[in-house]
Amino acid sequence: MPDPADIDSFDDLRGAFDQGLPIDPHRRWMWLALEEARMAAEEDEVPVGAIVVAAGRVVASAHNQREQLADPTAHAEMIALTQAAAALGSWRLEGCTLYVTLEPCPMCAGAILQARVPTVVWGAADPKAGAVASLYRLFEDQRLNHRVTHVGGIMADECGRILSDFFRGKRG
Ligand code: ZN
Repeated sequence: MPDPADIDSFDDLRGAFDQGLPIDPHRRWMWLALEEARMAAEEDEVPVGAIVVAAGRVVASAHNQREQLADPTAHAEMIALTQAAAALGSWRLEGCTLYVTLEPCPMCAGAILQARVPTVVWGAADPKAGAVASLYRLFEDQRLNHRVTHVGGIMADECGRILSDFFRGKRG
């Protein structure tokens, strides 16, 4: 039986679910975001998934749909924010936590700030476009009128692997 603290892979997590083990809540929710990323890969979209949780309930669940919608703004986080706002009847997503498999880009970080999301949990770092820790630190910028608490690297290996597998498949 794995120690819940050692659950790092999708298979470990699935095993823990099956065994009814207590699971770190961040990993539990990230697992759902990863399911969304898997759906994106099946649709031949860059596999990034996001969910929004409010009061312990999933109020949005989305994946990247840039190709299908022919829309440069159709990143997983953008769609999830729109869904969450519709579900809650407010553009202010106070009390919500957004989980996303990849570090948000500047567009998504901007939208997260606009939505006043208090907490973001992300998986893999994005050294080429990340606006939370890699290229910019928008969530901590004192010049902006909102700050976002963020936790990165949750299930980072699994979140990164689904992306590298996707791009390897493209090249192959
Ligand atoms: Zn984005």
